[in-house]
Amino acid sequence: MSSVTDPAGPTGSAGVGDLSLAARDITMRFGGLTALSNVAIEVAPRSVVGLVGPNGAGKSTLLGVLSGLLRPNDGTVWLRGEDVTHTSIRSRAARGLARTFQQPELFMGLTVREHLVLAHRARVSPRRLWRDMMDPRSLLPPSKAENERVDGLLELLRLTRVANAPVAALPLGVIRLVEVGRALASDPFVLLLDEPLSGLDTHGSENLLSVFRRIVAHNEHDLSLVIVEHDVAAVLALSDVVVVLDFGEMLAVGGPEEIRNDPAVRAAYLGDGEKTPRSTAEAPPLIDSLLDVVLPDWVDPS
Ligand code: ADP
Ligand code: MG
Repeated sequence: MSSVTDPAGPTGSAGVGDLSLAARDITMRFGGLTALSNVAIEVAPRSVVGLVGPNGAGKSTLLGVLSGLLRPNDGTVWLRGEDVTHTSIRSRAARGLARTFQQPELFMGLTVREHLVLAHRARVSPRRLWRDMMDPRSLLPPSKAENERVDGLLELLRLTRVANAPVAALPLGVIRLVEVGRALASDPFVLLLDEPLSGLDTHGSENLLSVFRRIVAHNEHDLSLVIVEHDVAAVLALSDVVVVLDFGEMLAVGGPEEIRNDPAVRAAYLGDGEKTPRSTAEAPPLIDSLLDVVLPDWVDPS
């Protein structure tokens, strides 16, 4: 992963064309505050990239820069090799970049199935979607192809049993799955997830993580996930590559094993050497997670 930390631009540097998503030299300032300083990320097809770091490290800001919500002061973002730094959220979404939100924004009256049908329609026939959105209760009956696609998603997410339940009646863990399902219904090749486990209990977290594994294992579109998460153990267990941000800077990047053993990470979070943990509020879960090198065997509820 040396190219990630290599500040050299795209010219002559290997491979942004082979990557699903890449960003280099990203600097993002909010007034006098530098939220990201010279940050890079590389997302290969069919991979899971984890983004960890204490509160305020710049994780959500980086997702915002990647999705098009924020325009960086410096740096470049590529989607499948194409420079999209100055393109809108919509245009990136149309090119296959999806994201979920920490606060799910669902239509509480609609059923799980209706959400997935609508999301699928947004991709394949936006004009029809517009009509559905104006009056969701008059939702046109799904076509055979729509039903097949949606049935596949319901199955993948283990949502078949609650397909006809209004989302308002469902627990947060299931609502998160619907949110992921909506994102997947647009057939993205990169899905950005900002703290998908927040607010979930152990069972809900394990269920969602097992779904993420299944999504990556079964995917037809070379789908990759970029996951921001407080639960470092979960990120280390799930990710192929982990990026550690600290005060807007890249503290470390590498495979989960490298990250566990990285001296800078250990110094910042485990209090090795001279340094003490920068944020006592964040230190305990990180210490627990990094010391817990035995990966949990997530229980698949099905
Ligand atoms: P994280 O997601 O890692 O907790 P954020 O990316 O949300 O961190 O925030 C990084 C820093 O940028 C924080 O200091 C935060 O207060 C600041 N910040 C984030 N968004 C904005 C904004 N829209 N305007 C001003 N400051 C912001
Ligand atoms: Mg955040």
